[in-house]
Amino acid sequence: MNATQWMLAILQERQSLLPLDSDVQPKLRFLNGVRSVIFDVYGTLIVSGSGDVGSVDQTDRSEVIQRAIQQARLEDRLDRPVLWSDLRRVIEQMNAERKSEDCISPEVDVIDAWRQVIDEHGWKAVEQDVASVVRLATCFEAWSNPTWPMPGVREMIDKLSRSKTQLGIISNAQVFTPLLVEDLLFPEKKIESVFQADLCFFSNRFRHSKPGPRLFRALTDALQRRGILPQEALYVGNDMLNDIWGASQAGMKTAWFAGDKRSKRSRSGDPRCSDLSPDLVLTSLPQLLECLKLS
Ligand SMILES: [Mg+2]
Repeated sequence: MNATQWMLAILQERQSLLPLDSDVQPKLRFLNGVRSVIFDVYGTLIVSGSGDVGSVDQTDRSEVIQRAIQQARLEDRLDRPVLWSDLRRVIEQMNAERKSEDCISPEVDVIDAWRQVIDEHGWKAVEQDVASVVRLATCFEAWSNPTWPMPGVREMIDKLSRSKTQLGIISNAQVFTPLLVEDLLFPEKKIESVFQADLCFFSNRFRHSKPGPRLFRALTDALQRRGILPQEALYVGNDMLNDIWGASQAGMKTAWFAGDKRSKRSRSGDPRCSDLSPDLVLTSLPQLLECLKLS
């Protein structure tokens, strides 16, 4: 059994989840000269119950943790129940330890965080037992942040990739996120056959997240190697701070995706977003094709 199979719960534990009307007016126009489109994942390409990777709200999820521990068959190896506050504390500590001038938005590897949490609860790591921790982390994510493909996403990706637009991803992500992206593609296609591998950036691999500049800088460097200027690339995301501010700081064109009330992040209280005006405001993904004259 390989690592992908340990993470299959992220796909198998799903049910249809449709976006909720966001009450935002779209702003659509033709954008000329876009050679590359880079996407956010959670709340943009996929409907996300919590609006982002992980569980961003304050709801106590201790009960979900207990179920995930049982599913991973770890309950007999821990000396007391793991609480939601234990996971939050470990993630906050890990982020605080890495935060610096060079890393203003740290990212954890959530598998490391879970390993530390269960170690604190009496689990004695057995070398080959990575699978249990990955299963625990994946079941917890699948149940606390249910996902489903955003309506129109497969057709949109298909049309964009046929048009020779260079496609990429910048995602605040964890190890199971690429499986969700691969699930959006037509059968038998691999992520690298549609999204350019050098234009894909997952925060858990860099241990930096959006809206920090690290991932956007890595992207614009990769675009430059392909002869593409930042202003010839369009970034599409649901979060005015993490996506639109971050990408505009990197000199990219921006499309705010406000197609689902759950994940609409207008960030109106943040001064960085007060004068921010994205080039497009989308309330459905097919609108992007119209703006690029690909529909
Ligand atoms: Mg998002």
